Amino acid sequence: MSRLLTAIGVHPDDLVVAVAGTIRAYACAGWRIRCVVLTRGEAGGPPDVRMQETRRALGLLGVTEKDIIFGDFPDTGLVHDHAVIQFLEDASGQPDMALIPSIYDAHQDHVAASLAGRSAFRNTPDVLMYETPSSTVDFRPEVFVDITRHLRAKVGAIRCHRTQRGHRYMSPHHVRCLAEVHGFQARVPYAETFMPLRATLRVAETRGDRDRRNHFVESQSPGSGSLDGYAETDATVTGL
Ligand SMILES: [Zn+2]
Repeated sequence: MSRLLTAIGVHPDDLVVAVAGTIRAYACAGWRIRCVVLTRGEAGGPPDVRMQETRRALGLLGVTEKDIIFGDFPDTGLVHDHAVIQFLEDASGQPDMALIPSIYDAHQDHVAASLAGRSAFRNTPDVLMYETPSSTVDFRPEVFVDITRHLRAKVGAIRCHRTQRGHRYMSPHHVRCLAEVHGFQARVPYAETFMPLRATLRVAETRGDRDRRNHFVESQSPGSGSLDGYAETDATVTGL
């Protein structure tokens, strides 16, 4: 079964601006992608048009129509409350990884969604907070996703948001420049960046690695290892 990445946006263009490359990279790697957008963006244009722009843009990135879910919370008036947390829990599908806005953001809606996401994804192993055009100087680029092979798709998806094209951050030039700066920081050509709320590094094992691990376990005298008391399964050490 494919793993699930759920991305939370507040406004209809948030996810494409912030994480289009990451969404496409994971979709190309076989992950299922779910996008949950909390408002319909009525403060920035006709809601029906903005929702349609979003469906088209996310479709270009590999997100299926049924995995694009809109809430109807008030644009510019989002609050961090139980209703938002419950909506996120119901709509998110228990993901393996979640992308949420950052608390280091000047837009009050993004901060409210970040706090709600922190609660809603309390049991999700990996939760990354993304950068937006309204991120404050406190946002520190700490985790990167190489989007070099997906930059053109990101620019194409951003072009779908025609109602927003007056914003400077929607221009292809700005998108490329920002991705290049983060690519320079990450030592790759182009990247998107995140601050981890929680990130888990996993070491993939080949068959040879498994043999080596079994040999290692067998060579330990009983009770001498720090793993004493934990059951080692084929893939993971449970209980740690
Ligand atoms: Zn936004």
